[in-house]
Amino acid sequence: MTERPAHHGPDGKFRIPWPLETADQRSGGGVLRWQMDRLRARLPLNPDPSALPLVPGDVARPRAPADEIRVTWIGHASFLLQMGGRNVLLDPHFGLRASPLRFLGPRRFVPPGLALEALPPIDAVVLSHDHYDHLDEGSVRALHRAFGHSIQWIAPLGHAAWLRARGIRTVADVDWWDNVELPGGGLTVTCAPAQHWTRRGLREYNDRLWASFALRAANGRRVYFGGDSGYFRGYAEIGGRLGPFDAVLMPIGAYEPRWFMAPAHMNPEEAVRAYREMGGRGAFVPMHWGTFRLTDEDPLEPPVRLRAAWANAGLTAADLHVLRHGETLVL
Ligand code: ZN
Ligand code: ZN
Repeated sequence: MTERPAHHGPDGKFRIPWPLETADQRSGGGVLRWQMDRLRARLPLNPDPSALPLVPGDVARPRAPADEIRVTWIGHASFLLQMGGRNVLLDPHFGLRASPLRFLGPRRFVPPGLALEALPPIDAVVLSHDHYDHLDEGSVRALHRAFGHSIQWIAPLGHAAWLRARGIRTVADVDWWDNVELPGGGLTVTCAPAQHWTRRGLREYNDRLWASFALRAANGRRVYFGGDSGYFRGYAEIGGRLGPFDAVLMPIGAYEPRWFMAPAHMNPEEAVRAYREMGGRGAFVPMHWGTFRLTDEDPLEPPVRLRAAWANAGLTAADLHVLRHGETLVL
């Protein structure tokens, strides 16, 4: 009998296997308290569209050379990552809302930085977890229609059944530290820990796993995709086992109010700390901000605080890349 990993609960659900830095307030009326506070509070306004410009990117077509890395920010946690001569989508979301409903729920401030119709051929889709701002059913169906089984889907344990129910058979269901080599080679994807939770629709909490991912090209170049995560003490191990990274894509938004959000979403200062603990090298590309209004901070605040935290930490200015929607970073 093999030993059960610490993040696999005895009840078949997944769980955070280390002590939290701040207590989880989600149970015991926390959601209600947050929503009541929100009604009373005067939340910052949504940004003026001119504050979040959409710019043309520099996508390589059909693919980039194997020694190049191209990171195009589609918005929120969605990227087109071109590396190892392959095209990978990370948490692709092209929908109008981060919601199960077409008419209600957080609506995007900015159209997708790259239209679905303008994508190059996609070799893989990596999904971090099932929340509506990361897993968009309309986008999944459209990608499957457009590219069929030439896409290798990679998602944490528990998501395969959801994808198979939508006709997708090329799914790798992965646990933390599992590797998947893309069919045809060129790129290896490794699932890594994150500190988060899952639930979609009426399901129970945490019966699907959440994850971050490291991608390694055949020539050794590496990119880290942080998914959705609170700050935790595991970043040094991730950097040590899977780094050093040429680029680190980290969530920096959806952090207020802290008393409620800290276990699930890091703030910009914590994202910089995680980057330093992973080795403090490579391009830092922030995400999970400026697209959907999920929480209570000013939607334009995360990059301001990020730049300040970056400078305070004495990190190289040339390594910080706050992309605009649609913008491509070439490394
Ligand atoms: Zn999430
Ligand atoms: Zn999220």
